[in-house]
Amino acid sequence: MVAPRGSHLVIDVKELRDRPGTQQHLTRTVGVPAEFSTVLVGFRQGEDLELDLRLESVHEGVLMTGTASAQVAGQCGRCLDELGYPLTVDVMQLFTFPESAAQASGEAEDEDERLIGDDLTIDLEPVLRDLMVSALPFQPVCREECPGLCSQCGFRMEDDPEHFHEQIDPRWAALADLRNGLDEPED
Ligand SMILES: [Zn+2]
Ligand SMILES: [Zn+2]
Repeated sequence: MVAPRGSHLVIDVKELRDRPGTQQHLTRTVGVPAEFSTVLVGFRQGEDLELDLRLESVHEGVLMTGTASAQVAGQCGRCLDELGYPLTVDVMQLFTFPESAAQASGEAEDEDERLIGDDLTIDLEPVLRDLMVSALPFQPVCREECPGLCSQCGFRMEDDPEHFHEQIDPRWAALADLRNGLDEPED
C-alpha cells in the first residue's frame, strides 16, 4: 500500500470506531506542510509543528481537541522588519464516520463537521491549515507600538522618533512668497 502524501498527518481511527469513551493521545512533531501562510505571515514549510491532540470516540464520530503550535514568521506590516513568534492554536473538531453522515437525513454536510475517510483515517492537514491560517494576524506588526515608516520618505521611525519634515502647506507657501514680495519695497 502506498502511503498517502503527507501521511505523517494522516491518522488511523479504526480503534476508536463504535467505542464511545475510548481515547487516543497524539503527541508528535511534524513538519509544517506547504501553504500554511498568508501574504505577510505564515508558518514556514518544514518548520516544527507540534501537535498535542486528544482523539475521543463519541457517539457521532471522533472528537479531536488539543493544540497545534508552530513559529510564525513574516514581515511587520508597518516597518517591514522580520517578525517571528510562537503561536499555539486551540483545536476542536468533530469528525464523523462516513456511514453516520449518510444517516443524517440527507442534510447538507455541516461545515464544522468533517468526514473520516472510507479507510477510517483522518487527514489532519486541511483541518490544521484552516485553523492555523485563520489564527494568523490580518495585519501583522512586530510590536503593538511599532511606529512604522515615515509616510514621506520611508525612514524607519524607530531609529529616530523625532524624525519630522517641515510641513509647509502650499497655500501658506504662496502667502509667504507674496509677503516676501510686499516686504521688498521697504528696503
Ligand atoms: Zn514594525
Ligand atoms: Zn521622513
